[in-house]
Amino acid sequence: MENDSNKDQLSRRGFLGVGSAALAAVAGGLAVSSTLAQEGQQAGNGRADRSDPGPANSGLDPQNPDSAWPPPTDSKSLVPTFKYPFSFANKRTYEGGWSREVTVRELPVSKTLAGVNMRLTAGGVRELHWHTADEWAIVLYGTARITAIDRDGKSFVADTKKNDLWYFPSGIPHSIQGLGPDGTEFMLVFDDGDFSESDTVLLSDSMAHLPPEVLSKNFGVAEAALKNLPKRELFIFQAAVPGPLEADQKAAAGARGKASSDFAFRTMDMPPTKRTKGGEVRIVDSTTFKAATNIAMAMVTVHPGGLRELHWHPNADEWQYYITGKARMTVVSTGNRARTMDFQAGDVGYVEKTLLHYIENTGNTDLVFLEMFKTSVYQDISLSEWLAHTPPELVMAHLNIDRATLDAIPRDELVVVPG
Ligand code: MN
Ligand code: MN
Repeated sequence: MENDSNKDQLSRRGFLGVGSAALAAVAGGLAVSSTLAQEGQQAGNGRADRSDPGPANSGLDPQNPDSAWPPPTDSKSLVPTFKYPFSFANKRTYEGGWSREVTVRELPVSKTLAGVNMRLTAGGVRELHWHTADEWAIVLYGTARITAIDRDGKSFVADTKKNDLWYFPSGIPHSIQGLGPDGTEFMLVFDDGDFSESDTVLLSDSMAHLPPEVLSKNFGVAEAALKNLPKRELFIFQAAVPGPLEADQKAAAGARGKASSDFAFRTMDMPPTKRTKGGEVRIVDSTTFKAATNIAMAMVTVHPGGLRELHWHPNADEWQYYITGKARMTVVSTGNRARTMDFQAGDVGYVEKTLLHYIENTGNTDLVFLEMFKTSVYQDISLSEWLAHTPPELVMAHLNIDRATLDAIPRDELVVVPG
């Protein structure tokens, strides 16, 4: 739909208008409805059959009404799934908590980002480790203590609560531990769809695979003192709830002092980036959270009946996690293809770079979800804003609308449109 020379025009910061490249992209998207109308005529204009006498999953069908009976604007050309519920994910359970993940293995379209959902009891530890991907996280429940060292070898220890974020760049060793009274649950997002929490470098595993005499020499201690090192990985294990934060910070810092980089971010200390009658959005990327160099977040709240307006992202795929409420999303793909799917708390959604989409609150409570991107700076382009900042005669000639209708389209991006 777009050629390479036009990509530069598209890669502008969100909330701005765009050039003619995207005109072609969305004109293609809008062509879906006329193609469908033709298909309908060819089929004799009959109403779509809605009988289903065969076996049905009576639990899942009502959760997925737009898959059971797609809206007539969806294409008959098939679009691969862009939804995976964490309910289906393999769970690894331990005494100190559990872990489950949605990667490109579970959701083939999710090539750029992977998500790991983890629970740690009070005192439960995700053991000291590091990995090749960057790790972004949001606390979903409870409180957790995180530790790391920075590239200068300086210590970082912090306590985090619901909606706080952390970010550990690749190769930075770290740990997570649940605090009282009831531990924590959080979502980790990695900048590699192929990432797996099973493929990290663990402290326990590393020690078990090194000759004891080498460890003895390396640490300058007697071999006998290391005889009880774990023989296999711990991954998640139960330990005592740690003491006061200040004591841990002081002990870990030693004479060298604390890390200058802050690997944590307090999301709710920041005012919403944009608020309307329909809801609000908080955008956190490297411009607000310096450590988050390669993963950006938009946390979106949509009130009942509201709509995360039609838009696309010129610079990155979007990985979604639904925290509360119910939604439906249509993704208009290339080649006259479009599909609508339904989402609820615990589901992962995915939208490839540049594809037009909206997210509508279909429930009667607030919808809260995350839009995650593998990028240092968040970008989006609003369909309304673009149409309102294109020569009016040109837009009217495309859409067969009158001037009053065009003038009613919002000139500034709302992000969340009221119901
Ligand atoms: Mn990690
Ligand atoms: Mn989006």
